[in-house]
Amino acid sequence: MQTIDKFNFAGKKAFVRVDFNVPLNENSEITDDNRIRAALPTLKKILADGGSVIIASHMGRPKTNPDMKYSLKSILAHVSELLEVDVKFAPDCVGEEATKMASELKAGEAMMLENLRFYAEEEGKPRGEFANDEEKDAAKKVLKESQKAFTAKLASFADCYVNDAFGTAHRAHASTALIAKYFDENNKMFGYLMEKEVTAVQKIMTDTARPFTAIMGGSKVSSKFEIIENLLTKVDNLIIAGGMTYTFAKALGGNVGESICEIDKLDMALELLEKAKANNVKMVLAVDAKIADAFSNDANTKFVKVGAIPDGWEGLDIGPETEKIFAEVIKASKTILWNGPTGVFEFENFTHGSRSVGEAIVEATKNGAFSLVGGGDSVACVNKFGLADGVSYVSTGGGALLEAIEGRVLPGIEAIRGF
Ligand code: AMP
Repeated sequence: MQTIDKFNFAGKKAFVRVDFNVPLNENSEITDDNRIRAALPTLKKILADGGSVIIASHMGRPKTNPDMKYSLKSILAHVSELLEVDVKFAPDCVGEEATKMASELKAGEAMMLENLRFYAEEEGKPRGEFANDEEKDAAKKVLKESQKAFTAKLASFADCYVNDAFGTAHRAHASTALIAKYFDENNKMFGYLMEKEVTAVQKIMTDTARPFTAIMGGSKVSSKFEIIENLLTKVDNLIIAGGMTYTFAKALGGNVGESICEIDKLDMALELLEKAKANNVKMVLAVDAKIADAFSNDANTKFVKVGAIPDGWEGLDIGPETEKIFAEVIKASKTILWNGPTGVFEFENFTHGSRSVGEAIVEATKNGAFSLVGGGDSVACVNKFGLADGVSYVSTGGGALLEAIEGRVLPGIEAIRGF
């Protein structure tokens, strides 16, 4: 397999798919540029080799072409500043101008294409209203054909293809997967960010040092069922935290008061407990909770046993006894995956549990464990608590990481690696 480090980009044009879908405020100013910074090593390596880059990304979910609210022009100046190169802008990702600009691009130069998702061909999903399924299927067929032309056009701009967009690796879109077919094995590769993400997932899922502990938090067991089910074939310990604690507690016959609880998912929780037993996985459930008399940071609080929450009260975080139990398991682990907070960490008074889990992970990492934090809110947690530098890897991919943990093949990875 080709790698970015081995590849010499001198005299080559590289089509680089990045994820520059950064959050913007109402004045179209970037509020968090981490995604841009994450792709810089790849872009800089290509330019330093004497290659040129065609930067391609999506932004938001535009429904028409164009929808200037989602124009990548808003981020052009900042990309130029960070890359330390005057990045040119193609106002239409596949138009005549883009073609001309790409053909005239010289060594050491960079250009950025307008939002790929201005075209429905990028995602391959027909837009608009359809009277019935037949009409929709017909539109899909037409789009499939124009998607081929769209993909071929993008591919024609460059000599090689680099995918550095892990955040969209779980999508089989034109620029994230289909385009790879237009380049032979030696001329397509992951960027540095993508390489790091793929290696991190591999360390968790295949080259696992034991014991392996996963901490699954967040709000609902239903949204994490498949992940937990797959993890039960991989981990030694599975810590259940966050809102799903109360679905398990209720399923086991406890009182959960007003806590978030999926009453129709009690069987699902029991099924997971059974599977854990069958697979010899230690399920670690919370034993005490910090409960509140309202869903508010300023609510009255107290600590009680998880299955003994009075009516009118709800569990918004784990209690001190649980913190201790979780920390012991985490600190004895050699591989750790953390997805989802232990409580409503958005409220300062209910951050303690998530912070203590984060701190235990940092300590385990210091002692040689490999720790991966990813999938939305746990990333927000480690950033909020200033713990990001103390874990082995913080993933940039939400949905993509979760699908990889579910054991699914990600089209963006498969298109380059072949599996
Ligand atoms: P998820 O997107 O499923 O990972 O869930 C993250 C969300 O779960 C965060 O917004 C947390 O506030 C929420 N959460 C965690 N613990 C609880 C809890 N005990 N009660 C209600 N929400 C919770």
